[in-house]
Amino acid sequence: MPNPRPVAPIPVLRPRLPGAEALLPWLRLIDQSRIYSNFGPLSEAFAHGVADHLGIAPGGVLPLANATLGLTAGVMAVGAERGSLCAIPAFTFAATAHAVLAAGLEPWLLDVEEGSWQLTPREVEQALAAAPGPVGAVMPVCPFGQPVDWQAWTAFRHRSGIPVVIDAAAGFDGLRASPLPTVVSLHATKALGIGEGAVMVCTDHDLLDEVKRRINFGFQGSRVAGVIATNAKMSEVHAAIGLAALAAWPVTRADFVRVQTGLRHRLEAGGLVCPAGIGEDWVSSTFCLRLPADAAATGGALACLGIETRRWWGDGLHRHPAFGHCPRTQLPATEALGTAVLGLPCFVDLDEAALDAIASRTLAALRG
Ligand SMILES: *Cc1c(COP(=O)(O)O)cnc(C)c1O
Repeated sequence: MPNPRPVAPIPVLRPRLPGAEALLPWLRLIDQSRIYSNFGPLSEAFAHGVADHLGIAPGGVLPLANATLGLTAGVMAVGAERGSLCAIPAFTFAATAHAVLAAGLEPWLLDVEEGSWQLTPREVEQALAAAPGPVGAVMPVCPFGQPVDWQAWTAFRHRSGIPVVIDAAAGFDGLRASPLPTVVSLHATKALGIGEGAVMVCTDHDLLDEVKRRINFGFQGSRVAGVIATNAKMSEVHAAIGLAALAAWPVTRADFVRVQTGLRHRLEAGGLVCPAGIGEDWVSSTFCLRLPADAAATGGALACLGIETRRWWGDGLHRHPAFGHCPRTQLPATEALGTAVLGLPCFVDLDEAALDAIASRTLAALRG
């Protein structure tokens, strides 16, 4: 048998941030201002730019050092009792639980809705009666950028009186502004990448002011720490990258649309089911599929075919030693998704030939 033609492996992710030329004008402004952090002019301009993009008032966006710290500050700001439970989906990235623990609450791991991969108000309401303690907050998650129902969560918040902080870390494109504090990550691996960074979006400006205090040592107008807090301010250099990334967003988004609709159509033609709306209603920096087979085994087969994949969220939070002690409900949907969801290569420079290779080899790997 002839040796198979050697193939250059296709990586699962290859971030592209603004280049040096695009950054220079913004960096020169920092040279002039000699302001490097602490809500400086570029951080303010970036907040304005994101607010414009979302069509909300400029006061509705708060730049942050990263999403994990932003979520912690959000839980602190909504007044969730330390030591109480914060309901989170078990099917999420580790940062969701780390953020809750850092705010002094205990993650309570709930199962997700199997079809949408996300925690919905229904799962929370069904679990509440059997909660193993007082529930101080809920943190729903946008799975791999798929939007949550902001309206349904706002209604839940009013109905239950329980504060809601939304982890929309991968959800920049599908984001809808609401009175619920919502955190979007700008990590290099996310759709609008700046290296390390995030924004909180919230139309309740009093609440956002409270978050601002919680990301700035508990200070508000003086050097007195009024409340427990952290430091999660965005630096001016990161805001410079953010301003350049925002200017390039229409191009970046069009590239993600091309890649994600391209993958989607090829995979659907082969009989696979793709996440609702991906590449059409919203884009993100990952393309995850629920396979009709074991994701780890398929990933292994694809590795041999030169396609790198990732089980981005592994087997669910309850399988991480750090969260093994957390109370949880039965997690059948999380378990099922954990074994079946696989991230395929997804980045802006994948061309048609690469998309053909990813789709055809995925279908081949599934045929065994
Ligand atoms: C990326 C991600 C985070 C962490 O964001 P950072 O900005 O890296 O802290 C949190 N939650 C989810 C669901 C994520 O995908």
